[in-house]
Amino acid sequence: MNNVDLDEVNKFSALAARWWDKNSEFKPLHDINPLRLDYIKERCNNSLENLNILDVGCGGGILSEAMSEQGAKVTGIDMAEAGLEVAKLHLLESGLEVDYQKIPVEELAKTHAGQFDVVTCLEMLEHVPDPSSIIKACATLVKPGGQVFLSTLNRNAKSYLFAIIGAEYVLKLLPQGTHDWDKFIKPSEMDEWSRQADMSLKGMIGMTYNPFTKVYKLEDDVSVNYLCHYLK
Ligand code: SAH
Repeated sequence: MNNVDLDEVNKFSALAARWWDKNSEFKPLHDINPLRLDYIKERCNNSLENLNILDVGCGGGILSEAMSEQGAKVTGIDMAEAGLEVAKLHLLESGLEVDYQKIPVEELAKTHAGQFDVVTCLEMLEHVPDPSSIIKACATLVKPGGQVFLSTLNRNAKSYLFAIIGAEYVLKLLPQGTHDWDKFIKPSEMDEWSRQADMSLKGMIGMTYNPFTKVYKLEDDVSVNYLCHYLK
């Protein structure tokens, strides 16, 4: 439990009832979900069918369900109990199957090393005390030759302006205090931790938001949100 920031997890628990409300604090995650799902699928030979996938920090299951819908066998883990309850309830509505569990990823890595074809850990690394330990556990859990997808927020002046001032204070896309700029991660740091965990970078793409058109896009600009594809 020592790599879990309880204040962070409690913030997500408090909002849990709204995970599946597409007009709530979670709207940005719903909006980017088809984009990131496409990226992941494309990088897994265009099919998630029958892949054994672990979704770390799954929250209410927005990505877990989408991958399950694509035919993957998905396990979703998170440390926010309330989010997991909502995720489980939502399966009754969607009719999909996901194995949701409350367990730290480092614990799961002790018993399930090399068991997953794909590990995803999206929009979570900036909420934990030691992201390198999470990345190491993800690398342990994926099998050799498997894929790991990690996304987070870059740390620079622009990301402070866009992700904190813009998203939380001006556009109010996210509640104030959702993100702590100091915990954002530069791609160079992400890559150093991933290389230390024996993974090699296969691709990196930015996720951008245009406040005028309200459209999210995947493009080369990794200055704010970005998503990485690693190979074990
Ligand atoms: N990955 C999901 C949710 C992102 S929100 C998505 O992109 O749709 C961040 C999630 O990380 C929350 O559900 C929060 O409870 C979870 N989280 C924060 N710290 C965690 C930790 N140490 N271990 C597991 N989950 C954690």
